[in-house]
Amino acid sequence: MKIAILSQKASLYSTRRLKEAGEERGHEIRVIDYLRCYMNITSHRPQVIYQGDPLDDFDAVIPRIGASKTFYGTAVVRQFEMMGVFCMNESQAISRSRDKLRCLQLLARKGIGLPVTGFAHSTKDIEGLIEIVGGAPLVIKLLEGTQGIGVVLAETKQAAQSVIEAFRGLDANILVQEFIKEAGGMDIRCFVIGDKVVAAMKRQGAPGEFRSNLHRGGMAAKIKLTPEERSTAIRAAKAMGLRVAGVDILRSNHGPVVMEVNSSPGLEGIEAATQADVAGKIIEFVAKNATPQRSRNRLNG
Ligand code: ADP
Repeated sequence: MKIAILSQKASLYSTRRLKEAGEERGHEIRVIDYLRCYMNITSHRPQVIYQGDPLDDFDAVIPRIGASKTFYGTAVVRQFEMMGVFCMNESQAISRSRDKLRCLQLLARKGIGLPVTGFAHSTKDIEGLIEIVGGAPLVIKLLEGTQGIGVVLAETKQAAQSVIEAFRGLDANILVQEFIKEAGGMDIRCFVIGDKVVAAMKRQGAPGEFRSNLHRGGMAAKIKLTPEERSTAIRAAKAMGLRVAGVDILRSNHGPVVMEVNSSPGLEGIEAATQADVAGKIIEFVAKNATPQRSRNRLNG
């Protein structure tokens, strides 16, 4: 099969591993910088053009869209969808997962366990907002934050009020969330492919740190999931419409709660912690689910 990896850089670990795993399995893999793709969106025959050449013979696309490039990246993925190419994760599912608030709303609708979360516009409603999540201590999150930046633990109601007021004063959108103290600074990344969790790792925050992000000095190790955690992760990915996803879970007193569903989960941490060939499993999944270009043309023709 001919597979395109949409990635800004061929040298990124995840991109390299996917290319390697694809070639090992006899596929032709090309890394395409989606920011250099352009397209005629009005044409009857949708096309994506890359450095002057039309990309019209791919059987499948693996999008690895950077968080700050979601708008353009999903437009390119959508164009491939219109050409009838199998996209591992669809543009709509990627956009959905990039909006933390929308993500939580969709998961709640499906009855998936979540930390109690509130959202408000006006600082006049702070009291009510704090009440929703059961008072302090509580967690305040910038909607636009990643890698744990903009995630604040407020120990007291006064601290919570000041931080919420400060963020809102800067016109930043924030979520207010129940603090899952019993998680003890640990979260679990479940790597979902199709209807399976193919690998799971726990990430433990540095001493004294409630955030477990590896970028903030957290440590990762393999972990065995409970059946409930496994099914929560699979249901969360499905609720977002993602075929491949990284689902982040906290172990709470009221069962597993989902914090986030990531549409371009990194491979480096999870492969190092679990020794699993996650890249290989992604390629096998894509090859199994894509319709080869040749038979697609026959169907259309
Ligand atoms: P980001 O997307 O910036 O990584 P997260 O929402 O994943 O932000 O939060 C970063 C880390 O903070 C999580 O991995 C988790 O360890 C911790 N954390 C986040 N929310 C809560 C919460 N409600 N209770 C306890 N710990 C939390």
